[in-house]
This record gives sequence, structure tokens and C-alpha cells, in this order.
Amino acid sequence: MSKNYNKGKVIGMNSGKGPKRDKPGLNTQVQLNPEDLKDIACENCGCKYFRQVSAFKRVSALVSPTGKEQIVPVPTFRCDECGFINEEFRPIEQKTK
Ligand SMILES: [Zn+2]
Repeated sequence: MSKNYNKGKVIGMNSGKGPKRDKPGLNTQVQLNPEDLKDIACENCGCKYFRQVSAFKRVSALVSPTGKEQIVPVPTFRCDECGFINEEFRPIEQKTK
């Protein structure tokens, strides 16, 4: 029967509320109407405008491909009004072991 049609492939719906999705392959350009899209507003003050900033990660010499300590910029966005960075914009937090 058709019992296995929803096996697999349906995962990933609850992995965060951000707009980030896997990019569709090739040139499947979807026409997006900005009016249909959900605004992302600052979770602190509600401002809808953001400014690009960079966080920086330090790569220790032990894991660096060059064998030297490196600093890697991680672009993210902060509220232009109050400077708050929404959780979905935050660069990957370092895992505490
Ligand atoms: Zn704000």
C-alpha cells in the first residue's frame, strides 16, 4: 500500500524558526513577493532594520590548516536601533565541553 510515503525527508521543520533553509539546487528561482514575507524584527526593540557586523572566531594553531593561529570573521546582523543581535542571527556559539 502507500504506507511509506512520508518516511524520511520530512525532517527539519522544527530546527529553528529562522529563514534559513537549504538552498534549492540549480536555478530554481522562486518569485518572492516581499509583501508576503514575514518581517524579521529586533527581538529587543522591534526595529526592522539591521546592520551587518562581523563576529570573529579564533582558530587555534592546533586546528588551523596553516598551523598558525588565525582569526576568522563571521558576518552577522545587529539591530540598527539598539544593537541587539537576534538569536537566529547569532554566529555559532562555541560549544562548551
Ligand atoms: Zn533593537
